[in-house]
Amino acid sequence: MSAVAPDRLTPPMAMARLFALPGGSMRIRVEDIKASPKTLRYTEDVDDLNARLGSGVRDYHLERGPDVTVDYYRSGLDIFFHGSLGGEVVGTCARCLEDYAFALDHPFVFVLTPRAAATDDSAQLRADDLALSYYEGDEIDLTPLVHEQLILALPTRPLCGEACRGLCPRCGANLNDGACGCPPAPADPRLAVLHALRGK
Ligand SMILES: [Zn+2]
Ligand SMILES: [Zn+2]
Repeated sequence: MSAVAPDRLTPPMAMARLFALPGGSMRIRVEDIKASPKTLRYTEDVDDLNARLGSGVRDYHLERGPDVTVDYYRSGLDIFFHGSLGGEVVGTCARCLEDYAFALDHPFVFVLTPRAAATDDSAQLRADDLALSYYEGDEIDLTPLVHEQLILALPTRPLCGEACRGLCPRCGANLNDGACGCPPAPADPRLAVLHALRGK
């Protein structure tokens, strides 16, 4: 994890007092969050993120941690985060099983409200229509929130391309490289009807 040098920050935003903990989480002290926005730029630890992406089937991984830029400020008890995360993601295509890389540039907004204040109806109402989460204690760990945003930004099913032809079910050849020579599978009559309807 690395924060950029202060001279790359745009005035009048100030560098936040922040600290990285072992294990690669990015934390901000709640007392340092004011009504005037501060900007934070850093790179998330890639190992933590890949560990999270890798639970279950490994559809995606990153070679290096995503770059995060986030403005944060307080409004009453709520803390707002407006930012974006970017980086290169490697997906493993669900059809042809080949790795393919794509750029991710994902804007995000989320709001944190103190857990103690979240029991009333108004908080519940807002939770329904805003990206609203809770914080408690004297610091906010951005890392799980950023991980969540990144996972939300990924397609549910990795495909190297919409037109990916996948693998031959008989010989396993990658059909994107050309026909494999296996006899064609018998046509599904239901699909034939669909094609006839579409192809007019
Ligand atoms: Zn593919
Ligand atoms: Zn084949």
